[in-house]
Amino acid sequence: METLQEKHVVITGGGSGIGAAITDALAEKGTRITIMGRKLDRLQEKVKTIKQAFAVSVDVTDLDQVEQGFAKAVANHGTVDILINNAGNAISVPFHKMGLEDWNTMLAVNLNGVFNCTQACLPSMRKQKWGRIINIASTAGLKGYAYVSAYCAAKHGVIGLTRALALETALDGITVNAVCPGYTETALTEAAIENIFQKTNYTKAEVQMQLLQNNPQKRFVQPEEIANTVFWLCQHDSKSITGQAVPVAGGEVM
Ligand code: NAP
Repeated sequence: METLQEKHVVITGGGSGIGAAITDALAEKGTRITIMGRKLDRLQEKVKTIKQAFAVSVDVTDLDQVEQGFAKAVANHGTVDILINNAGNAISVPFHKMGLEDWNTMLAVNLNGVFNCTQACLPSMRKQKWGRIINIASTAGLKGYAYVSAYCAAKHGVIGLTRALALETALDGITVNAVCPGYTETALTEAAIENIFQKTNYTKAEVQMQLLQNNPQKRFVQPEEIANTVFWLCQHDSKSITGQAVPVAGGEVM
């Protein structure tokens, strides 16, 4: 089997949580890595521990920053072969209390960010007739959850984009897939627990128990489990898998 050693992978949000686990997993396979995010200090701390890794400060919602960031990535490590659209954020608020600003923020980071970064890489992937695009969506892209309607709408949008783009790139050696984590033990889930705790009379332990009830295995998914799935989809031998939304959620959706 060919290896991924010669490949250049860009991971948005690669400095923390799921993105950091993906960074570690792909670094172990010898890929050249660029991680992107807004907090350059954290990204630089992360790349210190990894050979052939490079950090670029990019807000994925800003097209100019994305174009400049990808130009730096290409100048440093060559054409982008694999794009992991992982950057994301979740605001929790009942729909009737949600303002347009929250709605736009959720679409900007979770959906437009995927558009911006994919536009930046796709022409060169088409040219070289090889590419992998993996969008870290969510089970919230496959089902509804109360109080996160904008996040759900954005993640459903990511899965729609994944399916359509898979068809448009099917003859170009490119696969486009979504990975859909259930509740995963990261800062994002910690923030969700804190937010519910602040707004209700539940203790943090009770909130945690409620979130765990979503997963039939009654546990939080670990970031490394998402990273394993991403690695599987990156491989040459996974070339027939495209346009899929793969839940990693202990059986929460099926
Ligand atoms: P996390 O640790 O908070 O990571 C989110 C990452 O996204 C951070 O590294 C952050 O970096 C980056 N980011 C956020 N806004 C950005 C922006 N505008 N531009 C560039 N980077 C941005 O949370 P996580 O759980 O690992 O989340 C990773 C992905 O998994 C997200 O797409 C999330 O929706 C998805 N997901 C998570 C769960 C879960 O339960 N944790 C479940 C399903 C799906 P900076 O702050 O440096 O910008």
